[in-house]
Amino acid sequence: MSSPPRPVMVIFDRDGVLNVDHGYAFKPEELEWVPGAKAAVKRVNEAGVLAVIATNQSGIGRGYYTEADMEAFHAEMLRQLTAGGARIDAIYFAPHHEDAAEDRYRVADHPDRKPNPGMLLRALAEFGVAPGDAVMIGDKPSDMEAARRAGVRGVFYAGEDLEGLVLRELAALTGTTFPE
Ligand SMILES: [Mg+2]
Repeated sequence: MSSPPRPVMVIFDRDGVLNVDHGYAFKPEELEWVPGAKAAVKRVNEAGVLAVIATNQSGIGRGYYTEADMEAFHAEMLRQLTAGGARIDAIYFAPHHEDAAEDRYRVADHPDRKPNPGMLLRALAEFGVAPGDAVMIGDKPSDMEAARRAGVRGVFYAGEDLEGLVLRELAALTGTTFPE
């Protein structure tokens, strides 16, 4: 009897990995995808691998935009992904900042805010994924540090075609190669 395959997960940072990082992006009309990003997410879906986002959103704590603004931005991301036959399984965000005006956001070194691993650990727990069966793709040292603290492999994204990078990581995660 074969046991069911273990769940496998790709954790994407958002700004600078999926959407171009113009600095505190939140206007849906300003959403600009990184080259290969939508195709990369679709490849993850097609491989039967979970695709989640873990994003620091201190712009909320800093008062640059609201959670509702961020949700509208995410809704537009998901709408465009869906239009291309792709999906994101969950989005985790950390709105905190130590200088936030609102009490609920004013937390220094919140466990969710990368480089802390809180969002990654929650994603793993909620989907029952072992750290060794996940990879975090990010464009900042804080992403790599959060991955390290979560026991997840961190892959630094330096602006190359994201689809190619994801295909290599999927092959490593699943032991299957995918035609480019
Ligand atoms: Mg980033």
